Amino acid sequence: MRWWCRSSKPLPVTWSPPSPACWPWTGQRRSLRCGASGLAEAAISDARRRNMAAIRGTNTKPELVLRRGLHAMGLRYRLHSRSLPGKPDLVFPGRRTVIFVNGCFWHGHACHLFKWPKTRADFWRTKIGGNIVRDQKVRAALAAVGWRVLDVWECALKGRERQPVDDVLQQCVAFLESDVATASIGHPQTVTISDDA
Ligand SMILES: [Zn+2]
Repeated sequence: MRWWCRSSKPLPVTWSPPSPACWPWTGQRRSLRCGASGLAEAAISDARRRNMAAIRGTNTKPELVLRRGLHAMGLRYRLHSRSLPGKPDLVFPGRRTVIFVNGCFWHGHACHLFKWPKTRADFWRTKIGGNIVRDQKVRAALAAVGWRVLDVWECALKGRERQPVDDVLQQCVAFLESDVATASIGHPQTVTISDDA
């Protein structure tokens, strides 16, 4: 169960990367991203966070705002669990609940943060359309095995339609404490691929 934080102690100064033969050990190193430790959250440098966010869509600023706020409210969670469909951003195993923090562009949200790129229209239509279909399949797969899903859209935390962070956090807590199967903070509509490109 490598996604648990096993220690909040900093790595020794003399630490050096393990050899490729030591992959199980590197699982512990990856777990430093776990949200169960305030120290681990603080250990992510801004440069590293930006790099990871750009490459993988994880540890984005809205996601970190949400994680830090929920952590400060005493909630504990796992991060980016590979054992669940869609590798959810936050996983609350005891509540059998996950939270996705969706970037509005990549997930095709029908909001003011989404703009179709002016070039390579076919490429982007295929790309964003594929992401939307994949998101739908992931949520169906999670529901099929009894997981509840909350989608938090980027525009709920960023841009002119953003909500106060405390309001978003309270909505998250209300969902976690409910028995509602699915919910969305930010409207749930995605762009229409055939008409909008
Ligand atoms: Zn949006």
